[in-house]
Amino acid sequence: MKDVSNEWQAYWQTSCKGRAVFEICPKVNINRLHGNFYLKPILTGHGVLASYQHKFFNKDSKCACGHVLEDRYHLIFQCSKWREIRQKYFPANFSTLPQLLQSNSVRSGLEIILKQRLEETLCSTADNIQ
Ligand SMILES: [Zn+2]
Repeated sequence: MKDVSNEWQAYWQTSCKGRAVFEICPKVNINRLHGNFYLKPILTGHGVLASYQHKFFNKDSKCACGHVLEDRYHLIFQCSKWREIRQKYFPANFSTLPQLLQSNSVRSGLEIILKQRLEETLCSTADNIQ
């Protein structure tokens, strides 16, 4: 098992794929195998975020607050729209995204943000179809 883990780690460190996840989880760990649908955009940069929608579907990259790019860093650290949730669920002082994601409270706050963000996108898409 150790050989497989070492090989996996070597591949993970040199791969050009999954660099957004690598930034948060640089070490492979089979005990971390779990998923959370709402946190996926934060972990991967994929999904509902406007930066991803722009990159793959040529949609507007702007955030609803007016910022030029809605990516995971803007959503977590800057966006005025989610300030109250950050104040309620996030610690006052944090420095890095991996540190921040260690907190159950932070993950709960991010789930609230991503659920609302997904609902906004789905409602907007439904309005455009009608
Ligand atoms: Zn914003």
